[in-house]
Amino acid sequence: MRIPTRLTEIGSQVYAWLPDFPGTWGMANCTLIGSGSTALLVDTPYTAHLAQLLKTAAHQVLLQPADISIVVNTHANGDHSYSNGEFPGAEIISTEANLRHLCAEPTPEQLETLLNQCQQEESFGRYLLAHFGRYDYRGLRVTPPTRTFTGRLEVPVGDLTVELIEVGPAHTVGDLIVHIPHSGVVCAGDVLFIGDVPVHWAGPLDGVIAAAQQILDLDPRVVIPGHGPLVGQSEVRAYVRYVAELRDRIHALHADGLDIDEASRVLLRERRPDLGLWERLAVLTATEYRHLNGSSETPQLLQVLSSAIQLAPECVPTTTLPRYAFPAQRVPRS
Ligand SMILES: [Zn+2]
Repeated sequence: MRIPTRLTEIGSQVYAWLPDFPGTWGMANCTLIGSGSTALLVDTPYTAHLAQLLKTAAHQVLLQPADISIVVNTHANGDHSYSNGEFPGAEIISTEANLRHLCAEPTPEQLETLLNQCQQEESFGRYLLAHFGRYDYRGLRVTPPTRTFTGRLEVPVGDLTVELIEVGPAHTVGDLIVHIPHSGVVCAGDVLFIGDVPVHWAGPLDGVIAAAQQILDLDPRVVIPGHGPLVGQSEVRAYVRYVAELRDRIHALHADGLDIDEASRVLLRERRPDLGLWERLAVLTATEYRHLNGSSETPQLLQVLSSAIQLAPECVPTTTLPRYAFPAQRVPRS
């Protein structure tokens, strides 16, 4: 597990910030486009501390961190948007649907309070502390998009142009991907997970497959997933096949009359050994069942996750990190 101190150059004027944290939640990839005196950042890290580390790394390729004048949120989950406010003055762009969805997300304050109340003795509390206890959400304020769109939007960044393409509902209701044509790069957001079982809150899985297909239709050279290492088209195609297999299995279990818990237990038994966070299979089952049953309710993330943990008690770690596991790496604010 590693937080990067440098950005990885993946194309002309395109840099990725790639935390290496398989098997856990929250450490999302970010992408910086531009150089000199203007830049666009795709997604902001989970905490102010992580945002500061990213800004320090960005300083190596920008004249000033303040030159990040445009922020794009691929979706409204906190691990991609909580530190929007750490880029003061930046225009924040996302889809109209992502802005509407913000009210269904837990705020940083709520998450901080919840973690401080978690009991080690209780399985869901221990799970949350193990995966989220390392993050310090204090001081973060929800900073919503200042500019929204539907469909497609071209955004100039210096002498470059990037294209924002709405592909949701898929992972969430309003996902977008970012196409950087001059270097053949696509930022997939959480439409694409590499290394762990994917988690999708909105669905249906057909929406995720269609969104991943839109990435392939752009014929990218490099794809930056929301979490995990950089990949090419063959890995995206393998991901599409896996999600389609999961969709077909869940549909078959639903047709056989199994309820959500029974179907989840079957998928958990059939899990792939090479992917982490397999408790997410129970979340995917709940998401797909909601569509198969014609439910229009908005899923509450923590509630859905809590139900998944009850079905997969083996995935609850026996020990947890202390709260705020990264203070040693804290760097002064600019
Ligand atoms: Zn994410």
